[in-house]
Amino acid sequence: DTNEMELKFDSRSCNEGFARVAVAAFLTQLNPTVEEVADVKTAVSEAVTNAIIHGYENREGKITIRCRIQGRTLYIEVQDSGIGILDVEKAMEPMFTTRPELERSGMGFSFMEAFMDDLTVESEPEKGTLVRMKK
Ligand code: ATP
Ligand code: MG
Repeated sequence: DTNEMELKFDSRSCNEGFARVAVAAFLTQLNPTVEEVADVKTAVSEAVTNAIIHGYENREGKITIRCRIQGRTLYIEVQDSGIGILDVEKAMEPMFTTRPELERSGMGFSFMEAFMDDLTVESEPEKGTLVRMKK
């Protein structure tokens, strides 16, 4: 028994809150704990912020979020068609950032990893980035 949803929205920072709340609302059918909701919101927030500021470098673009509930598990994908990541392994290291001048701490992927049960990142330069998470 699976339940799916898909959202597509512009890469604007005002949509980050929308995306986070929409995923949280979709999750309510699993009767999550307050902590589980907070974890998912944080992870979605980090992934969407990355798509906006790194993927599209604050320019226009579309971000797609796909969610699937299967049993008691929530699968989330956050996808952009932005600049992509040259070295995914390095990008995922704690405190690695290509944007220190923007006061970035390089902790986004570490938070996603800590707050979710699984994180995989697929990316290709000039093509974009796909972040997959599960909770
Ligand atoms: P913080 O999340 O703490 O504000 P950050 O965004 O730099 O800082 P991460 O979220 O861990 O840290 O991302 C690490 C690096 O991976 C980024 O600095 C950026 O170079 C790259 N990156 C992450 N997401 C994307 C994306 N969607 N498109 C292109 N590059 C990305
Ligand atoms: Mg980040």
